[in-house]
Amino acid sequence: MAASLSEELVWELAHRLVAPPGELARRGVLVGPGDDCAILALPAGEAVALTTDCMVEGVHFKLSSGTTTLADVGYKIAARSLSDLAACGALPHSILVTLGLPAGASPHEVEEFMAGLSEALREGECLLVGGDVHRAPHWTTCSTALGTLPAKPWLRSALTPGMVLYISGPLGLAEVGIALLTGKLSPGDLPGKLAGLALSRINRPRPRLDLVKALGGQATPAAIDLSDSLSRCLIQLAEASGVEVEVYAERIPAHPDALPVLAELAGMGEGELSPQERAALLLASSEDYELLLGLTEEDAKKVAPEALGLIPIGRVRTKSASAPPKVVLVSEQGEEELAPTGYQHF
Ligand SMILES: [Mg+2]
Repeated sequence: MAASLSEELVWELAHRLVAPPGELARRGVLVGPGDDCAILALPAGEAVALTTDCMVEGVHFKLSSGTTTLADVGYKIAARSLSDLAACGALPHSILVTLGLPAGASPHEVEEFMAGLSEALREGECLLVGGDVHRAPHWTTCSTALGTLPAKPWLRSALTPGMVLYISGPLGLAEVGIALLTGKLSPGDLPGKLAGLALSRINRPRPRLDLVKALGGQATPAAIDLSDSLSRCLIQLAEASGVEVEVYAERIPAHPDALPVLAELAGMGEGELSPQERAALLLASSEDYELLLGLTEEDAKKVAPEALGLIPIGRVRTKSASAPPKVVLVSEQGEEELAPTGYQHF
């Protein structure tokens, strides 16, 4: 019979994720896991970025459906926070992770969670420096990540007139993943490898830390990560900056295999999508964890955004100071003000 779960065993499993003492010391961790607090000695004057996330079984994932594993949950709880760091132009330094375990959780399940967490931390070069474990009615996990800023922070409030808006990759695949997680689709409904790709996209989002490394120091974009739908993120950026943004409907990049699936789910029928239908599907797509960035013309000249895979989708307009912030969708049909669409928590 497998060993039953004890708090000590959970700590033992978590400790396997802790970097060797030399690595902790090299990165300024004076005290790692095991004391009441982790203690860090970061270079004097260095700004840090902090972010926190939580995932609850039955709300953010459903283990019983077989579409998400505990390794996926371990991966995603870190990846979501690392994506927030990327959105602020920060690189991961360290993380605290809390785990709430339901009665009957087994050592093997905790090991599986830790394996996914370990993978995300290794990929993001992020150190586990502490956490907590407790009983909970469902699997629950929270993370608090700390990042360091190689240059000035990237802010939602930094859009200025004349900036070009870029998106870091195609959208829609995670939305297909959401349909699989929620049972609106089953993997057999989808052609080829699409179900696997969509589940990997939703369960294991890749924080765009590569863009922080590529742009860091050369450009200071306005930025947000696309955890919410594109329409909501565009509106959040415009409102935080107090600007008017125009978005060109046909330029929004789509994952080509995801689009027909989303169209069918939305009841848009057979045949070619109209540009409006296509844009509506992409604007309502969530959780692709790409970055939405605004760059000044000057910064764009320095970093060659297209060479980094950034796709221009819009521009910040000049507006009178008294006009309210908004996002305008521009298509062949004309212009319309964008309303928020797609999933929301409350
Ligand atoms: Mg975010």
